[in-house]
Amino acid sequence: MDLEQLRKTAAEVVARDDVKYLIGWKKGSYGYRVAPVFVEDAAGVAELIFSPLCTANLTTYLTLVEKTPLPRGQEADKRKVALMVKGCDSRAVVQLLVEKGIHREEVIVIGCPCPGVVDQSLLVEKYGDTEEPVEVKWNGDGFMLVRGGEEIKIPRDEVLAEKCRLCRYPNPVISDHLIGAEVEKWSPAEDSGVSELDAKDVDGRWEYWEEQFNKCIRCYSCRNVCPLCYCQDCILDRLNPTWINRAVNFSENTAFNISRAFHLAGRCIECGECERVCPANIPLGKINRKMAREVREKYGFEPGLDPEAEPFQASFKPDDPEDFIL
Ligand code: SF4
Ligand code: SF4
Ligand code: SF4
Repeated sequence: MDLEQLRKTAAEVVARDDVKYLIGWKKGSYGYRVAPVFVEDAAGVAELIFSPLCTANLTTYLTLVEKTPLPRGQEADKRKVALMVKGCDSRAVVQLLVEKGIHREEVIVIGCPCPGVVDQSLLVEKYGDTEEPVEVKWNGDGFMLVRGGEEIKIPRDEVLAEKCRLCRYPNPVISDHLIGAEVEKWSPAEDSGVSELDAKDVDGRWEYWEEQFNKCIRCYSCRNVCPLCYCQDCILDRLNPTWINRAVNFSENTAFNISRAFHLAGRCIECGECERVCPANIPLGKINRKMAREVREKYGFEPGLDPEAEPFQASFKPDDPEDFIL
């Protein structure tokens, strides 16, 4: 990543009168963490980084912060928001455009071609946890961990995030400014997690998910981090009618997780954020990728690629034979 180009572009963008701020990543203050940063002027661009630790999908802020209802009488700031995106994140921007969750003139996309990010839990498992802030860089085909002046070369496969092994779109599918050259795409690994589940019979799959959903503590981190879970009136919060009870038990946990999976069918862009933040380590990516595979194979549709596409779950064709309706 050409940090000089990133910071120069960022400085030009935030200097514009019609730009509110740029949302990017900065170094963290703890271990392997990096942090989101809102840069409002040229002085702030020196903080911006792009590294294999920049896992979070910042697109969530476009809806989380920008679309929050304002107190009565307060005027919305209509200036544009600039946003750094990897390939997977850029698909969330496109999907939000498709759903009219955001409008093209509201956002400036700073595209960052992405060679793959690390799974921080694998880093901790293999290289130990640390409070001291460390750096991880791309290094040829792998990564380089820089800790206390020591440089440790790490083979790519040892700590690469699962979503990156399966990635088909490492380059941003939409951008106003592309930082550096596009990366060469790699052949995505076979999605063994989903195939293994597919190979089980119905009872075997049910048993698997029963065990997983029993672990859910209904913290809703998966919903809150998702760039495409942005309904202001989420059915989970409704009390009248109560679609899903707040009790934490297998039945309600299953209702919640299945409802969420169906709400994301044909919309989830497989950024992996929900699984990354789940404190119960539920393999939510398997559900998302299974749904995405079904939608791709049965309907030939893949979300987050074409801003002009019809929203998959909201489009209607008058000549649809609907022969599945009895
Ligand atoms: S899924 Fe693709 S674009 Fe996203 S972080 Fe991994 S390699 Fe980068
Ligand atoms: S993040 Fe995990 S534990 Fe929390 S609600 Fe979602 S699935 Fe359940
Ligand atoms: S459901 Fe998970 S993987 Fe899909 S877009 Fe939302 S956070 Fe990303």
